[in-house]
Amino acid sequence: MDEFALIEQFFAGRGVCRDDVLLGIGDDAAITRSDSGFELVIATDTICAGTHFLPGTPPRALGHRCLAVNLSDLAAMGAEPLWCTLALSLPEAEPCWVQQFADGFFAIADRFGMALVGGDTVRGPLAMTVTVHGRVKPGRAIRRNGAQEGDSIYITGVPGQAAAGLRVLAASGMTAEAGARPVQRFLYPEPRVMEGLALNGLATAMIDVSDGLIADVPRLLEASRLGAQMELANLPLAAVGTDDALELALNGGDDYELCFCVSPGNAAELELRAADWNCPVTRIGTVQRSADIVWLVDGQLYNAVPGQFKHFS
Ligand code: ADP
Ligand code: MG
Repeated sequence: MDEFALIEQFFAGRGVCRDDVLLGIGDDAAITRSDSGFELVIATDTICAGTHFLPGTPPRALGHRCLAVNLSDLAAMGAEPLWCTLALSLPEAEPCWVQQFADGFFAIADRFGMALVGGDTVRGPLAMTVTVHGRVKPGRAIRRNGAQEGDSIYITGVPGQAAAGLRVLAASGMTAEAGARPVQRFLYPEPRVMEGLALNGLATAMIDVSDGLIADVPRLLEASRLGAQMELANLPLAAVGTDDALELALNGGDDYELCFCVSPGNAAELELRAADWNCPVTRIGTVQRSADIVWLVDGQLYNAVPGQFKHFS
């Protein structure tokens, strides 16, 4: 099967029809209409076999993941998803594999109203690059650098769940039951798009947590040139019956939860907006003027040692 047949069969003419897509897959480039009342928000992320996912990961899960991680970046800006492109590098064009990959991709694309408008298909090591376009009202994107001293710091969901799932999967040689909650969370991360949109005009700063809280909380606060006192006693933990559940929450990757700052005066408004979210939201700290970050559990100093994965070190 050549790449044109593959694009035609599995990607062209699929997914949501948006009336702002004037020309989709099939020409040299796509054409979209951007509404003058909005700003465009653009993000791109690549996932590679061996680096970002284990060989043997189900193709449907990869189709989901390559878009989900990008949607998470739009969510973290408080942006509404619009269009995306997909660059796919495959060692071989195996129709059954591509079918399942595309099914996973379009299932999540459709759910968030995102149109696939183009891409590239090449032979090479298994990898996917997705670029997403979203929109916000002018000046309303939620950046990392807007935190204020005294703001409360919150996290969505149950951090560490994905890492707990990965542990179960890796131990089973990728054959563990995909229905188990942590395994499901790892294979099918849920970008917090609705939550990100709801935080518009409320969160002063936001980041999506993909490398664990210890790595990503400092990134959020460095951008604002501030520090924080973190209090982890109320952090919901992945119920995996291990004594390192807190460690997984702090250093485990792939959660794609939102970590954000809200002024204490807006706590009630946050509670109101979060009432219909289908994930918990937990207050885990306070922004401070000093540049360091102190991690506490029940008031006791917690020695948070970054175990962060880096690509080039
Ligand atoms: P060109 O050679 O002009 O760059 P391609 O042969 O790469 O064009 O692609 C043909 C059409 O198919 C283009 O519209 C391109 O955007 C689209 N396309 C290629 N690969 C993919 C893919 N994996 N997903 C979606 N669209 C794709
Ligand atoms: Mg061309």
